[in-house]
Amino acid sequence: MTVNNIVLEEGVMQIPSWWKVPPGYEKLQETAHLLGKNELLPRASTSDQQSCYPRESLRKIADAGFAAVTIPADDGGLGAGFTGFAILSQSFAQYCASSTMCWVMHTAAVQTLYTAGTDQQRQRYIPGVLKGEIGGLAFSEPATGSHFWNVVSEAPRHGDGYLLNADKSFVTSAGEADWYVVATSFPNSVESDKLMFLLVNNNQEGVESFPFSAMGLRGNSSGPMKFKDVFVPKEDRLGSEGGMNYYNDNTIDPLFLLGTAACWTGIAQGALNAAIDGAKKKVHADTGKSVAGYQVIRHELAKAQILVDSARAMLYRTAEGMDNTIQNGRALSECLYPLWQLKTHAADIVIQVTNQALQVSGGRGYLTGQVEKFLRDGRAGAIMGPTNEILREWIGKTLIEVPWFE
Ligand SMILES: Cc1cc2nc3c(=O)[nH]c(=O)nc-3n(C[C@H](O)[C@H](O)[C@H](O)COP(=O)(O)OP(=O)(O)OC[C@H]3O[C@@H](n4cnc5c(N)ncnc54)[C@H](O)[C@@H]3O)c2cc1C
Repeated sequence: MTVNNIVLEEGVMQIPSWWKVPPGYEKLQETAHLLGKNELLPRASTSDQQSCYPRESLRKIADAGFAAVTIPADDGGLGAGFTGFAILSQSFAQYCASSTMCWVMHTAAVQTLYTAGTDQQRQRYIPGVLKGEIGGLAFSEPATGSHFWNVVSEAPRHGDGYLLNADKSFVTSAGEADWYVVATSFPNSVESDKLMFLLVNNNQEGVESFPFSAMGLRGNSSGPMKFKDVFVPKEDRLGSEGGMNYYNDNTIDPLFLLGTAACWTGIAQGALNAAIDGAKKKVHADTGKSVAGYQVIRHELAKAQILVDSARAMLYRTAEGMDNTIQNGRALSECLYPLWQLKTHAADIVIQVTNQALQVSGGRGYLTGQVEKFLRDGRAGAIMGPTNEILREWIGKTLIEVPWFE
């Protein structure tokens, strides 16, 4: 039997394509895999080993038309919706997790600019984005750690703008992005919360970034940043002087939770693909059997694939739910609960699946840059905010019907 030009042994089960990609998105997924194989994978190992920012890979992603995937086509974006975003992140992550994470943060930053920004701000930033300029999100602060929605930094009024002083603990694309959405507070806010977002360019006076040396995602430059007496003109404030928690729930968290969950799912699939490939190829001379010829190994592969597919099924269902929510003119915060479950599950299973993949791969998997890279990269998932501890708490509170947010 021949399927997609591949000759299959008689009796081999064909997995239906809809199980792997939502109908209508096959072409997008195919393009993403080609880009991953040809452009992201060849640079991934060097980026990891030398901790170097995957600038060229990100340029190739932008050149392929994926610089602003969630922005409507009428406004210059791809208009691929949240389902398109999830498919791309999940596919790219199978080849280079660092590029994928930088691109996910960039996409969340661009969507924040789009939803919270004025027409004038969009016109100033989106054309650059389409040419490959990169955005970042500077939220987490050392003082409040995982509670990134509670910042202690402040930006009081100063002349015709604000004077920003902020310490940030982790910023993906720190020092590499062209601009950042910086979360800070406006001390005299009359809004329900003091959270304020400022657009800050990387080359502005007072902006400093520091190196990132970490276990995984080593190319993504997620180091600390300092904003020291940075003057931000009024026209670079996104939205109001305070009251921006609304955008945490309606833009930043939804994009971030979906995009990162897709990335963890893709890393898990990438590790498992490598393990399956290796198990088929490695043959023991004494038994004449391949590693895949041992039933215990096949069971391990099956258990791991079921875990990956459970996350992928949640991913696409959630993304489609988000697309429907927007199409029906409703607020994305309605999707937070499924997003919490999705991110927690994807970040949990990536730890388990990458471990299983390494075990099945034996010594080969342990060698630098093989399956071990997937394991190191994927381990960030449960730690990245909202962390799995915090998400489980919000899910649990929702289940017992008490307010989730204090
Ligand atoms: C690779 C990487 C990239 C990142 N990129 C960005 C970025 O681009 N922008 C950005 O703003 N941030 C970024 N972060 C920060 C990230 O989102 C988290 O906020 C941060 O990792 C939390 O770390 P912490 O050391 O401050 O945790 P801590 O707050 O010190 O937490 C330590 C432990 O306590 C638990 N904990 C904390 N609070 C609670 C609670 N209320 N209930 C139960 N348990 C709790 C945590 O879950 C964790 O297990 C990044 C982090 C990493 C690792």
